[in-house]
Amino acid sequence: MEHIVEIKNLKKHFGELRVLDDINFHIDKGDVITVIGSSGSGKSTLLRCINLLEIPDDGEILLHGKDILKGELDVNKHRAKVGMVFQSFNLFNNMSVLKNCMIGQMTVLKRSKEESQKKAEQLLATVGMSSFIGASPAQLSGGQRQRVAIARALCMDPEVLLFDEPTSALDPEMVGGVLAVMKDLAKSGLTMIVVTHEMGFAREVSSRVVFMDSGIILEEGPPEQIFTAPKNERTREFLSRYL
Ligand code: ADP
Ligand code: MG
Repeated sequence: MEHIVEIKNLKKHFGELRVLDDINFHIDKGDVITVIGSSGSGKSTLLRCINLLEIPDDGEILLHGKDILKGELDVNKHRAKVGMVFQSFNLFNNMSVLKNCMIGQMTVLKRSKEESQKKAEQLLATVGMSSFIGASPAQLSGGQRQRVAIARALCMDPEVLLFDEPTSALDPEMVGGVLAVMKDLAKSGLTMIVVTHEMGFAREVSSRVVFMDSGIILEEGPPEQIFTAPKNERTREFLSRYL
């Protein structure tokens, strides 16, 4: 079977700093990959490369077998197919919740206003935000903003959705609601790559867990194996901080 995303020998430097050092992995339809690892290990850079927010120095990023780093590519269309949810939400603060979820559909996917609105309303309902359609993002809590950001990404019918520490900026009481939405999405078959420090979520929802350390994938496996019998000493040491 062709992978949705396949990464081959991916490398990225910032100046002298080697941030991604020969990364290889893939994700298949319906998989939930969680990426764990210490701060500075390259997790965000990996997601940002897949979303073309960073351009790698070397290697391949294949989307359905086609290298996104070669030839002409419409970056906005790419980011519709490979959506991203950020730690800091990145909503448009000058637009209502509803408009936030409509604008990309209209400009990038060329959907009509009516169709975009219908889809936005449907997905805002999915994340439990129907009653905030007319609100401005500034009026919402962090957890509510993040649920809107997830709905906005879903409105683009992504083939894969990337989450970069979606709950790290939230007050503790807001984390559960966002994780519940993400669990539902995982169960519904959405293909997801999730960078997270929420080990309970990773353990419960992941198809595979990837442990990154200093720009490499040090260990990768099913959650039962990674959490109960990690092969690498560094993985064991990292996980022991969460016990
Ligand atoms: P993580 O998400 O795992 O915390 P990052 O991918 O954000 O790690 O960062 C990996 C390393 O690359 C860190 O040392 C970080 O300081 C560095 N880095 C990230 N982005 C840049 C950038 N735009 N310019 C220079 N260094 C960067
Ligand atoms: Mg990061």
